[in-house]
Amino acid sequence: MTKKKQDIRALSKEALRDFFINHGHQAFRGNQVYEWLWQKSAHSFEDMTSLSKDTRAMLETHFVINHIKVDQMQRSNDGTIKNAIKLHDNLVVESVLIPTETRTTACVSSQVGCSLDCHFCATARLKRMRNLNPDEIYDQVVAIDQQSRLYHKRKLSNIVYMGMGEPLLNYKNVLASIEKITSKEGLGMSPKRITVSTVGIPKMIVKLADDGVKFNLAVSLHSAIDEVRSKLMPINEKSNLAELLASLQYWYEKTNKIITFEYVVWEGINDTKKDAVALVKFCKKVPSKVNLIEYNAIDDGEFQQANPEAIQMYVNTLEAHNIVVNVRRSRGKDIDAACGQLANKTA
Ligand code: SAH
Repeated sequence: MTKKKQDIRALSKEALRDFFINHGHQAFRGNQVYEWLWQKSAHSFEDMTSLSKDTRAMLETHFVINHIKVDQMQRSNDGTIKNAIKLHDNLVVESVLIPTETRTTACVSSQVGCSLDCHFCATARLKRMRNLNPDEIYDQVVAIDQQSRLYHKRKLSNIVYMGMGEPLLNYKNVLASIEKITSKEGLGMSPKRITVSTVGIPKMIVKLADDGVKFNLAVSLHSAIDEVRSKLMPINEKSNLAELLASLQYWYEKTNKIITFEYVVWEGINDTKKDAVALVKFCKKVPSKVNLIEYNAIDDGEFQQANPEAIQMYVNTLEAHNIVVNVRRSRGKDIDAACGQLANKTA
């Protein structure tokens, strides 16, 4: 019977060094392999040209490299690129490259499917199959960095964990991926350029604060009124706005980082003055800013984007209380690459 080969990227640098020592080699070979795996993002042992043929063959008998594969790439007429990413077990997630004048942002997935049931989101209709491993998240970033260099002639500048899945329900692997992305032995990116977006799970937000993370936090709020939010996002029935707020205040106390609220205004759901005033009140309780995101229709119309007057009413109400607000236009809509549209649909 053949022994199942181990995923080499699940090993720490120390474990790799130990492996070489135990197989009669010098420990520094472990460092070399680690560098090939992470900094140079090697797809196969054959690529590791600084190792002898025998060493590569030995690695081959013990390990596999479960690299992701960009299975299909779609380019939007606004420069956005959507990738269908095939994982080693043939499951598929999506990652998006979003270019602006000055930046290229990678939007990465953290889970295959999603277990939350936000009624306006296309990913919610996919069953949650599994969590992504740290290397599978890391690979998405590397793939998009390469596309950014190729198509936009510059390196990746920002990363948002706003693809498929709920990052805080894959806590350990998401943090491990960020550790790799920010470490000098990985991509050496600053955590200030990374944003993790969550539906808002208070217990996990407290944990982030306690763990002293250095990246930014965005919360999908969509309403500051419990009854309204619970109808949109069932998670709000488990932990309401008061609990969410307490965890965010704790986050700010510990990290000193202001929170971004993501918010879609829908016709007949949260488009009145009362809704905007509730949002102002909520924002006043914790240092924060608001991104008003355009709604991307996912079906026949239970939800509809509010009219421009309602959006302007929100902007005016927030600004009158000195709360920073940005209106975010959708990107990549023509290829179903925009927020909430990721559902493994291909052309
Ligand atoms: N689970 C995390 C990460 C997904 S981020 C989270 O909920 O924050 C995706 C962002 O797009 C979230 O802010 C989500 O609320 C928003 N979104 C989901 N469906 C959308 C849609 N159809 N149109 C616009 N935004 C949507």
